[in-house]
Amino acid sequence: MAWARRRIQEWAAHHDDEVFVSFSGGKDSTVLLNIVRSVLPDCPAVFADTGLEFPEIKDFVRTVPGVITVRPKKTFREVVRDLGYPVVSKDISKKLWRLRNPTEANATIRYVIEHGETPDGEKRSKANLLPDKWRYLLKAPFEISDRCCDALKKQPINAWQRQSKKWPIIGTLAADSRIRTHAYLVNGGCNAYNATYPKSTPLGIWTEQDVLHYLKQTSIPYSSIYGDIVEENGLLRTTGETRTGCIFCLFGIHMQKGENRIQRLGRTHPKLHRYCLDDLGEREVMNFMRNPTCPADGSCGCVATPQVTGPAIIGPIARPTEISPWDEFKKQFGAHKEAAT
Ligand code: SF4
Repeated sequence: MAWARRRIQEWAAHHDDEVFVSFSGGKDSTVLLNIVRSVLPDCPAVFADTGLEFPEIKDFVRTVPGVITVRPKKTFREVVRDLGYPVVSKDISKKLWRLRNPTEANATIRYVIEHGETPDGEKRSKANLLPDKWRYLLKAPFEISDRCCDALKKQPINAWQRQSKKWPIIGTLAADSRIRTHAYLVNGGCNAYNATYPKSTPLGIWTEQDVLHYLKQTSIPYSSIYGDIVEENGLLRTTGETRTGCIFCLFGIHMQKGENRIQRLGRTHPKLHRYCLDDLGEREVMNFMRNPTCPADGSCGCVATPQVTGPAIIGPIARPTEISPWDEFKKQFGAHKEAAT
């Protein structure tokens, strides 16, 4: 915690205390806000009400003092209709959008996405290539894009930031994903003074376990959506939701073991689940995402969900084996963290 406090003090000093917390009401940003206010008691928190938060998150946010609520110009329904559904991941959605929306300006990048090299034959990193397992989505009868986060989260927060001239402190953990690990490393650590979008992420070197330990030890209030924090096999876990975020988001559901986020919604919030599948059109999206060439039991691990025909079809989805981004991160920053604590 001393590490996080120091980064916050440095960030605030660098910006003459003109800083704010980007507050989602989730457990990470709840911990962040608590630490920030132990250093800067009057620091404002800005909450983007995207219309995609669990009711329990919104209820909790209402109880937190000093929270400013901002709203996007578009609703999620308008975003998926006008811009496209967020599927698989931001990176894959962006690649699919580019390939399905060809222009002269994006010709080279489209070639790289398709072939892994430039039209001149210059090899590019494999990360630029659209993996074969997602290519069937090029034929999806619905629009796909990565622009949802920009429209629903970044736009309202950025607008507030421009008007207030304050600098953001965000509760992201580098261990959350490869993209976040990469961003943390290339931006120079917790305080990204020189990034394209400068920001402070003082919990950058924390893990989810660190967050849960903090909540348990301090007993600060957090959203009821998580349930209780209990210990199991030496690790802490929540008895309710593990992650909150946007309830209708399709990013990453193919990575979820067993019951995925949307399927769980059918059990915990049936009305919202029906709205998601029928009114927002996610039934069609999820059914299409089940590649027809996949084995019926989903054992290839590439599908997002079994056929979604009813309110809550549950079925285990095999998860591809992969190295945790945190393992990669530890290799580079393990000593860094130990030195800091
Ligand atoms: S997390 Fe998903 S649903 Fe939420 S704003 Fe981003 S893309 Fe949209």
